Amino acid sequence: GNGIKTCIVNMADVAKALKRPPVVCTKFFGCELGAVCRYDERDGDAPRSIVHGAHQTDMLQKHLDKFIEKYVLCVKCRYPEIDIKIKAGMVTARCAACGWAGDLDNVHPLAKIIAKEMGDEGGKKQKKSKAERQAEKAEKARKKAAGEDDSDDDADDDDEPVKEKKEKKEKKEKKEKKEGKEGKEKKEKKEKKEKKEKKEKKEKKEGLR
Ligand SMILES: [Zn+2]
Repeated sequence: GNGIKTCIVNMADVAKALKRPPVVCTKFFGCELGAVCRYDERDGDAPRSIVHGAHQTDMLQKHLDKFIEKYVLCVKCRYPEIDIKIKAGMVTARCAACGWAGDLDNVHPLAKIIAKEMGDEGGKKQKKSKAERQAEKAEKARKKAAGEDDSDDDADDDDEPVKEKKEKKEKKEKKEKKEGKEGKEKKEKKEKKEKKEKKEKKEKKEGLR
C-alpha cells in the first residue's frame, strides 16, 4: 500500500465500554474496510489499534455502529446486555436483560475471529494449554505445602468471576428497580397530592383565624 495507517488510539476504552476484546473490535474494521489491521498491546505503551490506509473518523464510527448492532445489542430488546458464548464454533448470545438467546451473525467474517478470541480455545485467559495449567496447579500446591505466600496469585484467579457475578446481580437489581419504579412513582405522586391538599386545608384554616 501507500504506507498510510490510521491509528485508533482509544480502542481500548471503546472496547471496554462495549465489553468486547479490543482485538475483536479492531478486526471488525479490518473485515469491513478490507484493510490490514492489528491491535498493539505493547508493555509501557498505550495500546493502539492500527488500520492500514487513511480512514475518516465518521466512517470508522459508522462501522463501529454496525459492529455494535451486530455483536453488542440484543436483537430483541436492544439493550447492550448480551453475553457472547461460542458453541461449536458458532457465535451465540444470551441477553441478561430480556432472556433472549440465539445466534448472532455467523456469516460475517468477524464471526470466525470472535469464535477464536472469545471461544474456549481463544482469548487470553484460556490460552494456556491443559498441561501448562496442570503444571501451574502442581507448582501452587508445592508452594502451599512449602508454606510460601501465594495469596496474590490466588486472588487474581478468583477475583474476576466474582466480580462478574456481582455486576450481573447489580444489573438485575437495576432492572427490577426500573420495573418497580412506575408503580412507586404513581404512589409517590398520590401521596404528594394528599399532602398538598392537607397543607392547603391547613392554610385555609389558619387564614380564617
Ligand atoms: Zn434482550
